[in-house]
Amino acid sequence: MATNRTFTMIKPDAVESGNIGNILQMITDAGFDIKAMKFTQLTEEQAKKFYEVHKERPFYQELVDYMISGPIVAAILEKDNAVADFRSLIGATDPTEAEEGTIRKKYAESKAKNAVHGSDSDENAKIEGDFHFSSDEVIG
Ligand code: UDP
Ligand code: MG
Repeated sequence: MATNRTFTMIKPDAVESGNIGNILQMITDAGFDIKAMKFTQLTEEQAKKFYEVHKERPFYQELVDYMISGPIVAAILEKDNAVADFRSLIGATDPTEAEEGTIRKKYAESKAKNAVHGSDSDENAKIEGDFHFSSDEVIG
């Protein structure tokens, strides 16, 4: 797997607040190419599986409930150093700690409702991209 891909979701709060377009503009302005994209709503089973790594954390069920509360946009993005550069673009998990100009600083409501997901490693980018997209949904 190329190490230049990452996986993102525009989360329900950012879809609800009408910021899909603004966030996609920031992503493409930062030099990411979209390789796959879908507008969808997760089932509880999918959200639980996606966030399984957090299942012992106190916020797990709240996170699952939030992630299924409305539609999301899922996408695979490509750029040199995609995983790290995308984490820089989105900013810290808690928007009050995120740097100026980051997606979460601009659009996140709270640490829980924080507008976007970004993979934290090349390995997880591959796992998460494969979780949401079949190979014929990925362009190039
Ligand atoms: N989250 C939360 N409360 C917390 C920490 C995380 O609700 O105290 C949620 C938040 O939506 C976050 C997600 O769980 O994006 C996954 O947490 P992680 O620590 O992986 O943060 P991320 O990688 O998204 O910055
Ligand atoms: Mg994470």
